[in-house]
Amino acid sequence: MDYSSLPVFASADVVVCGGGAAGAFAAIAAAKEGADVLVVEQFGSLGGTATNGLTMPVMHTHIASNPQCSYVSKIVRDKLFAIGGCDDSGANFDPFLLKVVLEEICVDSGVKLLFHTFIGDVITENGRVTALVVANKKGLGLVKGRVFIDGTGDGDVCVRAGAGFTKGNPETGKNQPISLRYIISNVNFEEFGAFINEEKKRTGVDGAASYYDGKIYVAVCATGSWTFSDLFDKAIAAGDLDPDDKAYWQGFTVTGRADTIAFNSPEFFDETDGTDPDVLTKTQVMGKKRALRQLMFCKKYLKGFEKAYISDISAMVGIRESRNITTEYVLTAEDLLCRRKFADMFCQSNYPVDIHGKQLSFNEKKYKDVDDGKPWYEISFRALVVKGFDNLLVTGRCLGAEFLAQSSLRVQQSARSSGEAAGIAAVMALKKNVPLREIDGAKVREVMVEKGADYAVV
Ligand SMILES: Cc1cc2nc3c(=O)[nH]c(=O)nc-3n(C[C@H](O)[C@H](O)[C@H](O)COP(=O)(O)OP(=O)(O)OC[C@H]3O[C@@H](n4cnc5c(N)ncnc54)[C@H](O)[C@@H]3O)c2cc1C
Repeated sequence: MDYSSLPVFASADVVVCGGGAAGAFAAIAAAKEGADVLVVEQFGSLGGTATNGLTMPVMHTHIASNPQCSYVSKIVRDKLFAIGGCDDSGANFDPFLLKVVLEEICVDSGVKLLFHTFIGDVITENGRVTALVVANKKGLGLVKGRVFIDGTGDGDVCVRAGAGFTKGNPETGKNQPISLRYIISNVNFEEFGAFINEEKKRTGVDGAASYYDGKIYVAVCATGSWTFSDLFDKAIAAGDLDPDDKAYWQGFTVTGRADTIAFNSPEFFDETDGTDPDVLTKTQVMGKKRALRQLMFCKKYLKGFEKAYISDISAMVGIRESRNITTEYVLTAEDLLCRRKFADMFCQSNYPVDIHGKQLSFNEKKYKDVDDGKPWYEISFRALVVKGFDNLLVTGRCLGAEFLAQSSLRVQQSARSSGEAAGIAAVMALKKNVPLREIDGAKVREVMVEKGADYAVV
């Protein structure tokens, strides 16, 4: 299509596409390196799945020191903590307050924000992205830049630019299950906590239900033995729940909200393509219905929910995995399971393979851990450098990784760290006037460490 007559809506040296966890961190890190940075985001706030998707906590890395591999994470934690928006580790946070804090850090760092703007196409020239084609209330227009960072989670910009990608479980072709998270407030924690303990005694099952130190944790899955399985079965038999409601139900308390539980459900297993607007629409409609049904279940079968209500339903469908972009290096299952190390790494994690629903049948035993006394895997910087392009990086859950590897590194610690690395690398490439593939990931990590990023050492 010929877009040459479109007006230019905005421009910047570094254009960050999508302001999720990865995009926001990329923008902050690039701005703190002195660059002129713009974020283009379809919604009216930053944080993506972590905020508009109501997704918390930041998962633990399963490394003893739990390194965040990010200095921006520390700034975010400190600001959130100061307003009562997270616990002292920063892991359990209030999604609404995270939106506010990310916005404040961006604005204070000089990042320009262009909200309510959808990226629909990309203009390229000789292996370079020159502009995004966007749509907003003004109509169609261009956003020009010198380096582009794709933080859309689905690799929209890379795919429109013509980059290669993979999608879904190689055995079934299907993506990971998707969810529409919701939050219930005005729960009487003391009553619910006492009920949890009564149910543990009654059923003799102590499975993923706890009330400790003012915090509630509850979960039920289709298979296995869970304290509330019995109540779910009764509700299904009575027609108050559907068997799908039992497939995956999980709730956490939210720091700073004494009466609130954030639910990591309902989950959808059949139609899971997060790049299909019909699937997204259907999930929004069905998800709300199911959230309401689950609230009614809580009121009828549990204690402490008499006056409870749904205080939020996610504006975004929760997409665990959609497209993964072909980068200079694509992380493999073997890299993760053998805990391979890379000289140009920017992130360490030992978070397990986390595939919901039908498991990929892989033989974990065939992978031999490199016995180096460092029980973690690393993410190579080259997994951010989009193959075939001089000025395009990809961050977050759609970086270059095979399905099984992505199922681990999709969590927020690595999404944040990948954004930070991308932001720093973008500015290095601009300053040196070289293609991104010539940037040394070890130098990117050096900057992250200088600024306070923590890494595991032995
Ligand atoms: C249901 C669910 C539960 C999870 N639970 C946890 C958990 O407990 N702990 C944990 O650490 N991780 C969890 N994760 C994983 C983690 O939250 C996400 O993988 C991570 O937050 C993704 O961040 P991201 O920035 O890569 O992408 P996203 O958060 O998806 O951000 C993408 C951003 O780009 C914007 N965007 C997309 N396309 C366009 C476009 N074309 N134009 C303009 N803007 C666009 C979006 O609006 C969004 O703001 C969970 C994920 C899901 C789905």
